[in-house]
Amino acid sequence: MLSEFDLIKQYFVRPATAGTHRAALGIGDDCALLAPAPGMQTAISSDMLVEGRHFFAGEDARRLGHKSLAVNLSDLAAMGARPVGFTLALALPAAERDWLAGFAGGLFALADAHGCELVGGDTTRGPLNICITIFGEVAPGHALRRDAARPGDDIWVSGTLGDARLGLAALRQELVLEDAALDDAAQRLYLPTPRVALGMLLAEGRLARAAIDISDGLVGDLGHILERSGVGATLDIDALPAGPVLARQALAVRRAFTAAGGDDYELCFTAAPERREAIVQASAACGTAVTRVGRIEAQAGLRLVDGGGAPLALALAGFDHFG
Ligand code: ADP
Ligand code: MG
Repeated sequence: MLSEFDLIKQYFVRPATAGTHRAALGIGDDCALLAPAPGMQTAISSDMLVEGRHFFAGEDARRLGHKSLAVNLSDLAAMGARPVGFTLALALPAAERDWLAGFAGGLFALADAHGCELVGGDTTRGPLNICITIFGEVAPGHALRRDAARPGDDIWVSGTLGDARLGLAALRQELVLEDAALDDAAQRLYLPTPRVALGMLLAEGRLARAAIDISDGLVGDLGHILERSGVGATLDIDALPAGPVLARQALAVRRAFTAAGGDDYELCFTAAPERREAIVQASAACGTAVTRVGRIEAQAGLRLVDGGGAPLALALAGFDHFG
C-alpha cells in the first residue's frame, strides 16, 4: 500500500534533471519559496476540477493531468502572464499506481512545455477532485484585465470555437457524430491548448487591452469584459471561427456552439484598430490563428448580427454552475 508520502515522492517529486526548476525551494517543506523576478507582478489563479462536474467518472488519467493544468495555464494566458509554477491539491479515492503515473505524465508533459514547475500541494483521500493554483509573472501595467475594453476596440478570438462543445453534445447523445468526427471533437474537450504564447505577446507588446479566456462560452465570457469595462458590443456571429468538425454541421448548431459552447480555452481580447497589423504578426509568430469578430461600443449590452449585419435574436447564455 502506497503511503501519502511515498505517493508524493514517487509521482510528484521529480529528479533535478527533469523539467524546469525555478523555485528557490520546491516540494518537501511547509511552504515552497519562489524568487520573483525583480519588478514583476505575480499573477495567481486557481481552478478546481470535480469528477462528474468537469469530467466524466472514469476519465483517462493522462488526459485529466493535462486538462487540470491546461485550464489554469489558460487563466495566465488570458492575463498575458508568463507561467512560473503551480501547486496541486489532490483528493483521491485510492492510491492507484497506473492512475497516478498517467495523471503525472499528462500533467508534467504540459508543465514542461511551459516551463512551469510543480512546487507543492496537498494530498488526501476523498472523491476525485483536482485543484491547481498557478503562479505567473507579468510586468506592471501589462496585464490584460477584463476592465480595460474601450468603445471602438476590435474584438478578437484565437483559434477555433465550438468543437469541444460539439464533442460533449455527441458524448451526451444530444446529437450524432461519425466516429472519426467524434474523436476529433472530443480531443478539443479532453486536451485543450492554453494560448500562453499569444497572451504573452499581446501583453508584452501592449497590443491588446482587455482579455478573457473562453471557458464558459464566448457570449458569456465576453459579457464579463463588457460588464467590467462598462461598455457594450456588437458580435458578428457568422465571423466566429468554427472548429473543423463543427464547420461541417448545420448553421444553427454552428452558431449556437461557436457563440455559446464552452470548454474552448481560446482567448477573447479587445484591441485598438491601429493594432491590427501587429496582432496579425504576433499571431503568426506564435502559430495561433486570430479572427476579428466584432466591435466594442459605448452602448451597453451585446448585440448579435449575422454575416449581412442583420440583428439576430438568439437565446444564448454562458455556462453557470449555479444557474
Ligand atoms: P503539510 O502537512 O504541511 O500540509 P504535507 O505533508 O501535506 O505538508 O506535504 C508535504 C510536502 O509535499 C509539502 O511540501 C507539500 O507542498 C508537498 N505535497 C503534498 N501533496 C502534493 C502534491 N499532490 N503535489 C505536489 N506536492 C505535494
Ligand atoms: Mg498537507
